[in-house]
Amino acid sequence: MVNEEQSGMGQVFKSDDRFSDGSQESSRSSTPSPDADGLQEKIRRHIESGDKWFSLEFFPPRTSGGAVNLISRFDHMAVGGPLFIDVTWHPAGDPGSDKETSSMTIASTAVNYCGLETLLHITCCNQTKDQITQHLHKARHLGLKNLLALRGDPMGDEWKTEEGGFNYASDLVKHIRSEFNDYFAICVAGYPTGHPECKSYEEDLRHLKLKVEAGADFIISQLFFKPETFLSFFKDCRAMGITCPILPGIFPIQGYHSLRQLVKLSKLQVPQEIKDIIDPIKDNDAAIRNYGIDLATDMCKVLLESGLVPGLHFYTLNREVATVEILKRLRLWTEDPRRALPWTISANPKRKIEDVRPIFWASRQKSYIYRTQDWDEFPNGRWGNSSSPAFGELNDYYLFYLNSNCSKEELLKMWGEELVDEKSIFDVFTAYITGQSNSNGKRVTCLPWNDEPLALETSLMKGELEKVNQMGILTINSQPNINARPSADPIVGWGPEGGFVFQKAYLEFFTSAENIPTLLKVLKKYKTRVNYQIVNVKGENINNAFDLQPIAVTWGIFPGREIIQPTVVDPISFIYWKDEAFALWIERWAKLYPTGSPSWQIIQDIHDRYYLVNLVDNDFPFENCLWQVIDDLFRLKASEKTCGSPTCELPVKP
Ligand SMILES: Cc1cc2nc3c(=O)[nH]c(=O)nc-3n(C[C@H](O)[C@H](O)[C@H](O)COP(=O)(O)OP(=O)(O)OC[C@H]3O[C@@H](n4cnc5c(N)ncnc54)[C@H](O)[C@@H]3O)c2cc1C
Repeated sequence: MVNEEQSGMGQVFKSDDRFSDGSQESSRSSTPSPDADGLQEKIRRHIESGDKWFSLEFFPPRTSGGAVNLISRFDHMAVGGPLFIDVTWHPAGDPGSDKETSSMTIASTAVNYCGLETLLHITCCNQTKDQITQHLHKARHLGLKNLLALRGDPMGDEWKTEEGGFNYASDLVKHIRSEFNDYFAICVAGYPTGHPECKSYEEDLRHLKLKVEAGADFIISQLFFKPETFLSFFKDCRAMGITCPILPGIFPIQGYHSLRQLVKLSKLQVPQEIKDIIDPIKDNDAAIRNYGIDLATDMCKVLLESGLVPGLHFYTLNREVATVEILKRLRLWTEDPRRALPWTISANPKRKIEDVRPIFWASRQKSYIYRTQDWDEFPNGRWGNSSSPAFGELNDYYLFYLNSNCSKEELLKMWGEELVDEKSIFDVFTAYITGQSNSNGKRVTCLPWNDEPLALETSLMKGELEKVNQMGILTINSQPNINARPSADPIVGWGPEGGFVFQKAYLEFFTSAENIPTLLKVLKKYKTRVNYQIVNVKGENINNAFDLQPIAVTWGIFPGREIIQPTVVDPISFIYWKDEAFALWIERWAKLYPTGSPSWQIIQDIHDRYYLVNLVDNDFPFENCLWQVIDDLFRLKASEKTCGSPTCELPVKP
């Protein structure tokens, strides 16, 4: 999946389009008004406070499988707390299109679905003004707010200026400012040893200054091999009157081949002392990587200690290990377990006011964002009848987000190459809960409804979940009740410091139609204590939701604020969720087997015959009664069987 040729460094990108339109000279049309959430402002605040940060460059992969992997890499890397990530623009890869692998789609996914501040690279050479303007409108529409404005390189030919075209990155910066004012934060590229085409280093610096004067907010540098190269470039920029932040581009050497390729394309010289170390170990990938980690760590230390460098920018080559290791050694990898909300907040400015989500998508957050992407307004605070949500339909493109990170072969090993009966399904669910290996010796680390292993919070109820899954209560979502735990709690905490969080116990599961009449009888006993919704694939829906009102199931109380209630059980959105929840049986599981085969038939039967149930225990200060409900269900079923009548009463517990 890693392809260094597509990385954003130096002279790597080529295009064979021709200029066809003129660019209009203009300057910034208004005084910049700092956007409090904008990247420029975040950088400014970090510089002021002296907090060092890091950012990470990725390039779009070639295949949709690669895109799925890259998106899960974003999720892993988000944990370390990058200030932003950036996505390169590769003219040959249809970068502005809607393809799953385009720069635009990958960058939009990072912002919208992974909640990452994202900088989209965009090159202007060989493009008409209209094409560029269209890309920019699209980027804005997708919620992107930051651009790395580049000239790029023509495919094959020597560089030639074109009358009326975008000849330099500064033309692009001017165009963005004239058309979009200060909507975008703009970054430009800087070359610590001068751009290879330029007559002199000094002249290149003057051109860099022109880019900044045209409206760029900050600079990211080309890679370099020695800290002094960057530090003298930095000082020269300042002497020239370039006052904006300048980030060093750090390239951890990760392999002999990738280094040679990059050096060739970027026309950089590798210092002899580095060559002398690398050449003898060129066939030992691990040794080269370890050397690269040591070298980059030492270089970053010198840069940070100089006091001139506010943050570090990493060329990751879409790899994780080396960059994470360097960041850990520098203590910049933060892994702060505190969450602002129990779910990932999208970085799209349009979703700023979003403060509540239905619990059903807790393990499928990207899917929720996808399905609500066209909402103009997000329900802030309350979900009533009037805010009936129009969820996006399940369609082909959406299946992209349903894709698992696991291959078909792996999924079959986890979920069964051949299913014998319903019990085989119960065993898969149970193995997922316990984390133990199944009969294939394989650990079940995901289910169609949960791409990740069990959440820490869910592990608190492992014993009970294991027991009920064995009995055919196939759980797909749950949370324990919590009564005023500190917001800093490492397992259930979220929100600002000094607060307290609360939860009602919640349980969501599939179970067979045969269990439903008995379950309803049991639920009568719990009256208002337990709210329930029970629905089958046809939409036959039994519930005791009062006037279809949502129930807050997670809320928090924080110093100097209103109560925040980010998660609800909403009867209206449950009806939309149920389509997705049932579809996953078929899309993710049944489709692993030949149509009509016994395994396929077992899943299809469950899909057709089972009900999806959710239960909320309203009395959160007391012991969770939902396990008792399930226990009562099976005791009543047993006694109905013994007495031979469905009118039997629940036996008194011994
Ligand atoms: C951080 C970074 C990220 C990159 N990402 C990508 C990417 O995603 N996709 C991609 O295709 N490429 C990428 N590149 C490579 C880049 O496109 C090439 O290096 C390209 O040759 C120059 O682009 P630029 O924006 O720096 O050009 P410019 O700033 O326009 O400079 C190009 C050359 O023109 C000269 N020049 C600039 N202005 C003038 C002027 N007014 N008059 C005369 N000469 C002038 C400069 O001195 C320089 O020699 C990246 C490079 C860097 C450093």
